[in-house]
Amino acid sequence: MEDHQGLTVGCHLSAAKGFAAMGRTATSIGANTFAFFTRNPRGGNAKAVDEADMARLREHMASQGFGRLVAHAPYTLNLCSAKPDVVDFARRAMADDLARMELLPGQYYNFHPGSHVGQGADAGIELICAGLDEVLDAGQSTTVLLETMAGKGSEVGRTFEEIARIIEGCRKGDLLGVCLDTCHVWDGGYDVKDDLDGLLEEFDRVVGLDRLKALHLNDSKNPKGSHKDRHEKLGEGHLGVETFAAVVCHPLLQALPMILETPNELDGYRQEIALLRSLAAKGAA
Ligand code: FE
Ligand code: FE
Ligand code: ZN
Repeated sequence: MEDHQGLTVGCHLSAAKGFAAMGRTATSIGANTFAFFTRNPRGGNAKAVDEADMARLREHMASQGFGRLVAHAPYTLNLCSAKPDVVDFARRAMADDLARMELLPGQYYNFHPGSHVGQGADAGIELICAGLDEVLDAGQSTTVLLETMAGKGSEVGRTFEEIARIIEGCRKGDLLGVCLDTCHVWDGGYDVKDDLDGLLEEFDRVVGLDRLKALHLNDSKNPKGSHKDRHEKLGEGHLGVETFAAVVCHPLLQALPMILETPNELDGYRQEIALLRSLAAKGAA
């Protein structure tokens, strides 16, 4: 599916009505991928597995030519908390999520590396690697993605170097990739707006572009380097529409699944998906 016929683009959807419903909703707004929380984003509970529902989504994705999904772990999971019970819960929840993901084989599972809560990035990275070594299963079909973070509080993954150290420190690193969030890298201090090529060169040098598997497309409410992590609608923040035009037309990026996490209802997402598709078509013309 790496032709230039169209982007693989979608948005974060509610999982409340199940998997097949998310597939239908995605199609109804012009999307051919989507993201969803694998369990309650705050509480951490997962719904019972409904294999028939997941099978219906697989059929829908095949018939509608979907690209890979980018599932999102709940953002409360913290593999590098200072509290052992929090780390233990994160490991068990991730292992359970990955087991369920095998009912939708071959997708992506994105997670926030974690917050070291004062232990320091080195200790955080060590804990994250130990957690991944425990949770990842050599036989899994899911690629686990580390999300680039804005560096809010004590977030780990605020630099490409930290992301690279996690991948290198994990014994099962071949199962890992990266999801680059445009708002987060901007807030983290990378110039995704005026130097996209420089950013990608740096990513390639530090992490390796073969690790880049998915994008989160969000504008930012704040200036570069603010470490705030406040998403804005495309074109209404500090990045502007030109940034997203450059991303969807970039030969190194245009084939990746792109997920919107902008402050929108479904109709706003429909409009942003149409905007991205038109920007890509204009770039290709
Ligand atoms: Fe995220
Ligand atoms: Fe994100
Ligand atoms: Zn964010």
